[in-house]
Amino acid sequence: MNVSSQDNRHSPSDPLVIALDGPAGVGKSTVAMAVADALGLAYVETGALYRAVALLARRAGLEFDQHAALAKLAADMSVQFTMVEGINRVVVDGQDLTDALRAPDMGPAASTVSAIPEVRTALMELQRGFGRVSPGAVAEGRDIGTVVFKTASYKFFLTADVEERVRRRVEQLVQKGKNVDSDQVRQEVEARDSADSGRKVAPLKPADDAIILDSTSMNAQQVIRAILTTVRGTHE
Ligand code: C5P
Repeated sequence: MNVSSQDNRHSPSDPLVIALDGPAGVGKSTVAMAVADALGLAYVETGALYRAVALLARRAGLEFDQHAALAKLAADMSVQFTMVEGINRVVVDGQDLTDALRAPDMGPAASTVSAIPEVRTALMELQRGFGRVSPGAVAEGRDIGTVVFKTASYKFFLTADVEERVRRRVEQLVQKGKNVDSDQVRQEVEARDSADSGRKVAPLKPADDAIILDSTSMNAQQVIRAILTTVRGTHE
Protein backbone atom coordinates (compact mmCIF):
# COMPACT_ATOMS: atom_id res chain seq x y z
CA MET A 1 0.00 0.00 0.00
CA ASN A 2 1.27 3.43 -0.88
CA VAL A 3 0.63 6.02 1.82
CA SER A 4 3.10 8.65 0.72
CA SER A 5 0.45 11.12 -0.45
CA GLN A 6 -0.97 11.20 3.04
CA ASP A 7 2.23 11.46 5.04
CA ASN A 8 2.60 14.57 7.19
CA ARG A 9 -0.93 15.72 6.49
CA HIS A 10 -1.84 15.52 10.12
CA SER A 11 -0.49 18.04 12.58
CA PRO A 12 -0.47 16.78 16.18
CA SER A 13 -2.88 19.47 17.39
CA ASP A 14 -5.64 18.63 14.85
CA PRO A 15 -8.14 15.91 15.55
CA LEU A 16 -7.23 12.77 13.64
CA VAL A 17 -9.87 11.98 11.02
CA ILE A 18 -9.97 8.63 9.28
CA ALA A 19 -12.35 8.56 6.31
CA LEU A 20 -13.79 5.22 5.29
CA ASP A 21 -15.97 5.15 2.19
CA GLY A 22 -17.40 2.35 0.12
CA PRO A 23 -20.52 0.76 -1.32
CA ALA A 24 -23.41 -0.94 0.47
CA GLY A 25 -22.76 -4.28 2.13
CA VAL A 26 -18.98 -4.06 2.08
CA GLY A 27 -18.64 -4.18 5.87
CA LYS A 28 -17.66 -0.55 6.52
CA SER A 29 -19.43 -0.36 9.88
CA THR A 30 -17.73 -3.42 11.34
CA VAL A 31 -14.35 -2.16 10.20
CA ALA A 32 -14.91 1.48 11.18
CA MET A 33 -16.15 0.58 14.67
CA ALA A 34 -13.19 -1.73 15.31
CA VAL A 35 -10.66 0.84 14.06
CA ALA A 36 -12.27 3.57 16.17
CA ASP A 37 -12.22 1.31 19.21
CA ALA A 38 -8.58 0.27 18.71
CA LEU A 39 -7.43 3.88 18.33
CA GLY A 40 -9.71 5.43 20.97
CA LEU A 41 -11.51 7.57 18.37
CA ALA A 42 -15.19 8.46 17.97
CA TYR A 43 -17.19 6.50 15.42
CA VAL A 44 -19.29 8.56 13.01
CA GLU A 45 -21.88 6.69 10.98
CA THR A 46 -22.94 9.26 8.40
CA GLY A 47 -25.38 6.90 6.67
CA ALA A 48 -27.49 7.05 9.84
CA LEU A 49 -28.03 10.78 9.22
CA TYR A 50 -29.50 10.17 5.76
CA ARG A 51 -31.57 7.32 7.18
CA ALA A 52 -32.81 9.66 9.93
CA VAL A 53 -33.89 12.30 7.42
CA ALA A 54 -35.83 9.66 5.47
CA LEU A 55 -37.46 8.27 8.62
CA LEU A 56 -38.41 11.66 10.08
CA ALA A 57 -39.77 12.72 6.69
CA ARG A 58 -41.96 9.66 6.49
CA ARG A 59 -43.20 10.17 10.02
CA ALA A 60 -44.01 13.79 9.21
CA GLY A 61 -45.93 12.71 6.10
CA LEU A 62 -43.51 14.45 3.74
CA GLU A 63 -42.92 13.23 0.19
CA PHE A 64 -39.34 12.75 -0.96
CA ASP A 65 -39.79 15.40 -3.65
CA GLN A 66 -40.39 18.15 -1.05
CA HIS A 67 -36.76 19.17 -1.13
CA ALA A 68 -36.96 22.39 0.89
CA ALA A 69 -38.98 20.73 3.67
CA LEU A 70 -36.56 17.78 3.78
CA ALA A 71 -33.58 20.12 3.95
CA LYS A 72 -35.17 22.04 6.82
CA LEU A 73 -35.84 18.81 8.66
CA ALA A 74 -32.18 17.79 8.15
CA ALA A 75 -30.92 21.20 9.35
CA ASP A 76 -33.11 21.17 12.47
CA MET A 77 -32.38 17.57 13.47
CA SER A 78 -30.14 16.85 16.48
CA VAL A 79 -28.25 13.57 16.53
CA GLN A 80 -26.13 11.79 19.13
CA PHE A 81 -24.13 8.60 18.63
CA THR A 82 -23.37 6.44 21.66
CA MET A 83 -21.62 3.08 21.62
CA VAL A 84 -23.51 0.65 23.87
CA GLU A 85 -22.30 -2.96 24.06
CA GLY A 86 -20.82 -2.83 20.57
CA ILE A 87 -23.89 -1.21 19.01
CA ASN A 88 -23.85 2.35 17.75
CA ARG A 89 -27.05 3.78 19.26
CA VAL A 90 -28.45 6.66 17.26
CA VAL A 91 -30.51 9.18 19.19
CA VAL A 92 -32.42 11.65 17.02
CA ASP A 93 -34.14 14.62 18.66
CA GLY A 94 -33.87 12.79 21.98
CA GLN A 95 -35.36 9.52 20.74
CA ASP A 96 -33.38 6.29 20.26
CA LEU A 97 -34.16 5.36 16.64
CA THR A 98 -31.36 2.79 16.17
CA ASP A 99 -33.58 -0.15 15.26
CA ALA A 100 -36.02 1.78 13.09
CA LEU A 101 -33.14 3.31 11.13
CA ARG A 102 -31.68 -0.11 10.33
CA ALA A 103 -34.94 -1.54 8.93
CA PRO A 104 -34.25 -2.93 5.43
CA ASP A 105 -36.44 -0.39 3.64
CA MET A 106 -34.53 2.53 5.17
CA GLY A 107 -31.42 1.92 3.00
CA PRO A 108 -33.18 2.67 -0.30
CA ALA A 109 -35.14 5.52 1.35
CA ALA A 110 -31.90 7.07 2.62
CA SER A 111 -30.38 6.69 -0.84
CA THR A 112 -33.30 8.62 -2.35
CA VAL A 113 -33.06 11.55 0.07
CA SER A 114 -29.26 11.55 -0.15
CA ALA A 115 -29.42 12.48 -3.83
CA ILE A 116 -31.09 15.82 -2.92
CA PRO A 117 -28.36 18.52 -2.92
CA GLU A 118 -30.15 20.66 -0.29
CA VAL A 119 -30.26 17.71 2.11
CA ARG A 120 -26.56 17.01 1.63
CA THR A 121 -25.73 20.66 2.29
CA ALA A 122 -27.93 20.71 5.38
CA LEU A 123 -26.10 17.68 6.82
CA MET A 124 -22.59 18.94 6.10
CA GLU A 125 -21.99 20.94 9.29
CA LEU A 126 -23.49 18.22 11.45
CA GLN A 127 -21.04 15.71 9.96
CA ARG A 128 -18.07 18.06 10.28
CA GLY A 129 -18.97 18.75 13.89
CA PHE A 130 -18.70 15.04 14.64
CA GLY A 131 -15.16 15.11 13.27
CA ARG A 132 -14.06 18.02 15.45
CA VAL A 133 -13.74 15.90 18.56
CA SER A 134 -10.54 15.17 20.37
CA PRO A 135 -8.54 13.02 19.74
CA GLY A 136 -10.45 12.37 16.50
CA ALA A 137 -12.93 10.23 14.65
CA VAL A 138 -13.42 7.46 12.15
CA ALA A 139 -16.15 8.61 9.77
CA GLU A 140 -17.76 6.18 7.35
CA GLY A 141 -19.99 6.94 4.39
CA ARG A 142 -19.89 7.53 0.66
CA ASP A 143 -18.34 11.00 0.27
CA ILE A 144 -16.25 11.37 3.42
CA GLY A 145 -12.89 11.45 1.65
CA THR A 146 -14.15 13.36 -1.40
CA VAL A 147 -16.36 16.03 0.20
CA VAL A 148 -17.01 15.99 3.96
CA PHE A 149 -13.42 15.56 5.17
CA LYS A 150 -11.35 16.31 2.08
CA THR A 151 -8.28 16.85 4.24
CA ALA A 152 -8.79 13.75 6.39
CA SER A 153 -5.59 12.41 7.89
CA TYR A 154 -6.23 9.04 6.24
CA LYS A 155 -8.65 7.99 3.53
CA PHE A 156 -9.65 4.44 2.80
CA PHE A 157 -12.05 3.19 0.15
CA LEU A 158 -13.28 -0.26 0.96
CA THR A 159 -14.65 -2.32 -1.88
CA ALA A 160 -15.54 -5.95 -2.74
CA ASP A 161 -17.23 -7.78 -5.61
CA VAL A 162 -20.98 -7.48 -5.59
CA GLU A 163 -21.49 -11.23 -5.04
CA GLU A 164 -19.30 -11.10 -1.95
CA ARG A 165 -21.13 -8.04 -0.61
CA VAL A 166 -24.47 -9.78 -1.11
CA ARG A 167 -23.10 -12.81 0.74
CA ARG A 168 -21.96 -10.60 3.65
CA ARG A 169 -25.28 -8.77 3.83
CA VAL A 170 -27.24 -12.06 3.79
CA GLU A 171 -25.01 -13.50 6.51
CA GLN A 172 -25.52 -10.38 8.63
CA LEU A 173 -29.32 -10.56 8.27
CA VAL A 174 -29.40 -14.29 9.03
CA GLN A 175 -27.36 -13.66 12.18
CA LYS A 176 -30.02 -11.17 13.23
CA GLY A 177 -32.64 -13.89 12.79
CA LYS A 178 -34.18 -12.26 9.70
CA ASN A 179 -35.84 -14.12 6.82
CA VAL A 180 -33.67 -13.47 3.79
CA ASP A 181 -34.27 -13.68 0.07
CA SER A 182 -30.79 -13.38 -1.44
CA ASP A 183 -32.12 -12.32 -4.86
CA GLN A 184 -33.89 -9.44 -3.20
CA VAL A 185 -30.73 -8.50 -1.29
CA ARG A 186 -28.76 -8.58 -4.57
CA GLN A 187 -31.29 -6.33 -6.27
CA GLU A 188 -31.20 -3.89 -3.38
CA VAL A 189 -27.39 -3.78 -3.28
CA GLU A 190 -27.14 -3.31 -7.06
CA ALA A 191 -29.83 -0.62 -7.11
CA ARG A 192 -28.08 1.28 -4.31
CA ASP A 193 -24.66 0.96 -5.99
CA SER A 194 -26.04 2.41 -9.15
CA ALA A 195 -28.00 5.23 -7.46
CA ASP A 196 -25.12 6.19 -5.12
CA SER A 197 -22.44 6.06 -7.84
CA GLY A 198 -24.58 7.68 -10.53
CA ARG A 199 -25.98 10.69 -8.66
CA LYS A 200 -24.86 14.19 -9.59
CA VAL A 201 -23.88 15.42 -6.12
CA ALA A 202 -21.16 13.72 -4.11
CA PRO A 203 -21.31 10.39 -5.94
CA LEU A 204 -19.79 7.31 -4.38
CA LYS A 205 -16.19 7.16 -5.62
CA PRO A 206 -12.73 6.91 -4.11
CA ALA A 207 -10.90 10.18 -3.41
CA ASP A 208 -7.83 10.58 -5.63
CA ASP A 209 -5.63 10.15 -2.57
CA ALA A 210 -7.58 7.28 -0.96
CA ILE A 211 -6.05 3.91 -0.28
CA ILE A 212 -8.25 1.36 -2.02
CA LEU A 213 -8.78 -1.86 -0.14
CA ASP A 214 -10.39 -4.61 -2.20
CA SER A 215 -11.68 -6.91 0.50
CA THR A 216 -13.24 -9.54 -1.78
CA SER A 217 -10.90 -12.18 -0.41
CA MET A 218 -10.14 -10.58 2.96
CA ASN A 219 -12.05 -11.04 6.17
CA ALA A 220 -12.95 -8.14 8.46
CA GLN A 221 -9.98 -8.78 10.76
CA GLN A 222 -7.55 -8.55 7.84
CA VAL A 223 -9.07 -5.27 6.68
CA ILE A 224 -8.96 -3.84 10.21
CA ARG A 225 -5.33 -4.90 10.58
CA ALA A 226 -4.39 -3.33 7.22
CA ILE A 227 -5.92 0.00 8.27
CA LEU A 228 -4.37 -0.05 11.74
CA THR A 229 -0.96 -0.93 10.30
CA THR A 230 -1.13 2.04 7.93
CA VAL A 231 -2.30 4.48 10.60
CA ARG A 232 0.07 3.28 13.31
CA GLY A 233 2.96 3.18 10.84
CA THR A 234 2.65 6.84 9.89
CA HIS A 235 0.88 8.56 12.76
CA GLU A 236 2.94 9.77 15.70
O1 C5P B 1 -24.24 3.52 4.97
P1 C5P B 1 -25.72 3.37 4.90
O2 C5P B 1 -26.18 2.12 4.21
O3 C5P B 1 -26.40 3.54 6.23
O4 C5P B 1 -26.20 4.60 4.02
C1 C5P B 1 -27.51 4.72 3.57
C2 C5P B 1 -27.53 5.59 2.33
O5 C5P B 1 -27.20 6.94 2.71
C3 C5P B 1 -26.51 5.23 1.24
O6 C5P B 1 -26.97 4.23 0.35
C4 C5P B 1 -26.26 6.54 0.57
O7 C5P B 1 -27.23 6.78 -0.43
C5 C5P B 1 -26.46 7.57 1.67
N1 C5P B 1 -25.20 8.09 2.16
C6 C5P B 1 -24.61 9.11 1.46
N2 C5P B 1 -23.48 9.69 1.93
C7 C5P B 1 -22.91 9.28 3.06
C8 C5P B 1 -23.48 8.21 3.79
C9 C5P B 1 -24.63 7.62 3.30
O8 C5P B 1 -25.11 9.51 0.42
N3 C5P B 1 -21.81 9.89 3.50
